[in-house]
Amino acid sequence: MTARILDGNALAQRLRADFKTRAEALAARGTRPGLAVILVGEDPASQVYVRNKVNACAQAGFHSVRISYPPDVEPQVVFDKLAELNADPAIHGILVQLPLPKHFDSDAVLKAIAPAKDVDGFHAENVGALMQGHPRFIPCTPYGVMKFFADAGIDLRGKEAVVLGRSNIVGKPMAMLLLQASATVTVCHSQTRDLAFHTRRADILVAALGKARFVTADMVKPGAVVIDVGINRLPDGKLCGDVDFAGVSEVASAITPVPGGVGPMTITMLLANTLEAAEREAG
Ligand code: NDP
Repeated sequence: MTARILDGNALAQRLRADFKTRAEALAARGTRPGLAVILVGEDPASQVYVRNKVNACAQAGFHSVRISYPPDVEPQVVFDKLAELNADPAIHGILVQLPLPKHFDSDAVLKAIAPAKDVDGFHAENVGALMQGHPRFIPCTPYGVMKFFADAGIDLRGKEAVVLGRSNIVGKPMAMLLLQASATVTVCHSQTRDLAFHTRRADILVAALGKARFVTADMVKPGAVVIDVGINRLPDGKLCGDVDFAGVSEVASAITPVPGGVGPMTITMLLANTLEAAEREAG
């Protein structure tokens, strides 16, 4: 079997065109969706992510503000800025780029974002709402993965879904969304015994562990849908996922590539969350 490729660039483009139209309609009624992105420090990867987010906003017709601080900034300066942005009616979404420098308490920073503007969905109030099945903001990466299933007409009800990774930003919310879609969900992590036993049972396999080409063809059930969240840099500078794409695409029925799969969807869903926040605000 040769898997169908789930093209994240194409899906992202279609969704962004729709968001642009909705943003224009909202702007005509006096509300332009606005996103504020805070970056602390000079981490090159974070700088690229922030630039991409700000550019995506501009292309979709959103207002965006980028606020940068040196790595040794006093945390109180950031808390003060968050309080200002929380009260700013032109800003509907606030995002603090992670990771923060070591002298920051990241949990406290995330908690200082107004839950109604927490477009990453990391505030405890929003995590709780997701757990209870009435999410306000869905974390962008798993939200993007769910869009793949919806777009490709993949019915999750009753399916065996296995998630590799249990981070707060990907694995845990991913598992929760799959559960809410009535899949039977198994979450694996670094202490899981016999990982391949679980992966071979999976109708839906989501890999989010951050290990280059970790999932090989012999670990995948023929016909499974494989979503590769991983982004790993190889010694030659190229990017690859957590899945051995060449081998697994011969076994799976559908697969996301890296790059060009989940990655473009993550920023797209940040736009979705910002737009939804602005639409809610505008009534
Ligand atoms: P974390 O490092 O926070 O979490 C990794 C998870 O994988 C942990 O739960 C860890 O288990 C588990 N794990 C690590 N090694 C193994 C192993 N050998 N067997 C089983 N489980 C293992 O990573 P993130 O969740 O933040 O990100 C995961 C990957 O997704 C990364 O490659 C990251 O770059 C990528 N990513 C991609 C995004 C995109 O837009 N495409 C967005 C966000 C992340 P334990 O908890 O026991 O340590």
